[in-house]
Amino acid sequence: MSFPNVRMRRLRRTEALRTMLDQSQVQPSSLIYPIFVDETITEPVPIVTMPGYFRYPLDRVVDEGKVALEQGVRGVLLFGVPAKKDEVGSGAYARNGVVQKAAKKLRSQFKEDLVIIGDVCLCEYTDHGHCGVIDKEGAVQNDETLELLGKTAVSQVEAGVDIVAPSAMMDGQVLAIREFLDDADFEQTPILAYSAKYASAFYGPFRDAAESTPKFGNRKSYQMSQGSVHEALREMELDINEGADMLMVKPALAYLDIISLAKSSFDVPIVAYNVSGEYSMVKAAALNGWIDEASAVNEVLTGIKRAGADLIITYHAKNVKDWLK
Ligand SMILES: [Zn+2]
Repeated sequence: MSFPNVRMRRLRRTEALRTMLDQSQVQPSSLIYPIFVDETITEPVPIVTMPGYFRYPLDRVVDEGKVALEQGVRGVLLFGVPAKKDEVGSGAYARNGVVQKAAKKLRSQFKEDLVIIGDVCLCEYTDHGHCGVIDKEGAVQNDETLELLGKTAVSQVEAGVDIVAPSAMMDGQVLAIREFLDDADFEQTPILAYSAKYASAFYGPFRDAAESTPKFGNRKSYQMSQGSVHEALREMELDINEGADMLMVKPALAYLDIISLAKSSFDVPIVAYNVSGEYSMVKAAALNGWIDEASAVNEVLTGIKRAGADLIITYHAKNVKDWLK
């Protein structure tokens, strides 16, 4: 059958029909709100490269948890900016580290209403800015880093974190963290693995926000190169075999095909990270009056969802409730 028997516009006639048949509606409950907590400040500090976004002092973290819940968002992802950095990133696994303190505050305020996710990496805590410990030549040491990531995960869960999200792209990190968690009797804590994390220009604004730009070199020896497809699938399969409960693709917009492949290949929740550069592009265009922010944000998030993401980590989460269709 074809035209004139078939008329595709019949089902697009009214707003109610369109809404009823929309297959990719984004709910605020499928969004995760990233929060930057900075130990060194007493007032929120605007992040210049991410208009409308701030680093928050510890005593404002609970307010940001409220912002999330008011938006209908159920999860927050914590990143820390510590007062001190050192060669081995000890602030990442310190009992009184910045993320640990933030998690305690959130946990005591919100009990089980809010899902607290901890980013598990060293780059915000190392003075060289790499995601692992380095040798004399400056090469990142994979196996030496695993123990520190395991300790970081345990210290976060002790502080009240619900889900740990390892982002260092070290081989074996999911298995190492699973073993550390189980040894500490946290066998119920899920791992959200940053499995397919590409070396991307779109992380630029985040590195300003988290002060985590590498002091030398780049992260291309551990993050994935942009043209890789099979490697992404292999990373994801390995992470599932190591015990990952959810898989992440990062960034989102330039990697929608990878999100789609992940969704069709694996029966675990797929999480997409709509990263800082993607946020800032939309913001910059909106601030210049070049696009309509609400419609653009809705379209971006719908596209990521349609590609196959079950959950989306996005900086738009703090101001999205009235924008979603
Ligand atoms: Zn890192």
